[in-house]
Amino acid sequence: MPANLPNPADRPNLLGLTPPELAEALDGHFQARGQPRYRGGQVREWLSAGDARGFGEMTNLPLRERDALGERFRLEEPGVDTVSESADGTVKHLWALRGGEVVESVLIPAGDRLTLCISSQAGCALRCRFCATGWSGFGRQLSTAEIVGQYRASARWAREHGRGRVTNVVFMGMGEPLANRKAVFPALAILNAGYGLGARRITVSTVGVIPGIEALARRPEQFRLALSLHAPVSELRAELIPLEKRYPLEQLMAALEAFNRKGGRRITFEYTMIRGVNDDLQLLPRLAELAVRVQAFVNLIPFNPIPYVAWKPSLAGRLRAFRDGLERAGVPAAVREPRGRDIDAACGQLRASRRPDLTRRPVINEPGRRFGSIESP
Ligand code: SAH
Repeated sequence: MPANLPNPADRPNLLGLTPPELAEALDGHFQARGQPRYRGGQVREWLSAGDARGFGEMTNLPLRERDALGERFRLEEPGVDTVSESADGTVKHLWALRGGEVVESVLIPAGDRLTLCISSQAGCALRCRFCATGWSGFGRQLSTAEIVGQYRASARWAREHGRGRVTNVVFMGMGEPLANRKAVFPALAILNAGYGLGARRITVSTVGVIPGIEALARRPEQFRLALSLHAPVSELRAELIPLEKRYPLEQLMAALEAFNRKGGRRITFEYTMIRGVNDDLQLLPRLAELAVRVQAFVNLIPFNPIPYVAWKPSLAGRLRAFRDGLERAGVPAAVREPRGRDIDAACGQLRASRRPDLTRRPVINEPGRRFGSIESP
């Protein structure tokens, strides 16, 4: 390779460019090479519909042009570290990124849907008490190309293994997407405008980063928002989610109301039900009140046990009681089945077991009180 070529890592990865950026980069490149304008369109077609893994596969371009693309750009997806398939059809990928980080994504079939849950950060800085991702600490932000690459590689895996098309994408893998807006927002535009996934089929899940909710509300596309609520009163929420102290529930609700006023985008509350912690029936009216205020749909998710924490999922009867109570109050709600337990499909667990060097025990503020005891490994 000639010495004046850029280092591979410095070449722009085409997977990380938004449709206008991609058009500009490719048009400039081909124009400088005296190539016809339609070449850019051919490459774009191979990226989205054509699903090429590399420039070499772009067989309707002259060989010389394929080589030249490779000298100027990258087309690089995360490498596969591990693929695990659950008995219930859930499929988890552990991706190996440049620099040694690993992140997860999960394919979840349900009826005629195939939902892909993707990661936005390697690890997470927010340290929610019930989430395994936070424990392995914050690694780094993912790039736009690494986010889009998870989608592209997972969608290809699904197609090649007879699982059909990915119909929905949720940012509910590792990390806090609204704490990585620089990479996540372009990725949203690419999935929507580049890969043709409807905005209403893309859900951004946040634990409550208010400036991020406001920024999402300003976008023209109707992306969906899920708020990881987990407690309808600030004091209890603060014990589960450290970020509550920075962005308290009342301010969060005001941001959600503003989001809601934009219209056309349904808000979902995620409520992980932990036995004896946040499933007291006295919390129900308050939960219903919050949901009514922003017309939210409530997903009740049995807590998925994680290492070191002695908490248990709420009992089935309590989950039903919450759902029925919400519905009586006019709030649509559903109890979500845990999926892929046999493959540790919940948030962060596989990374933690794969990178024991990163795993720390959680910081315990009030050992034993109210939350049950924290076990040693
Ligand atoms: N940071 C974002 C997205 C990642 S978490 C957010 O918090 O929304 C995706 C969802 O998984 C969140 O609703 C989170 O609360 C939930 N979750 C995390 N750990 C869990 C566990 N052990 N059991 C059940 N749900 C869990």
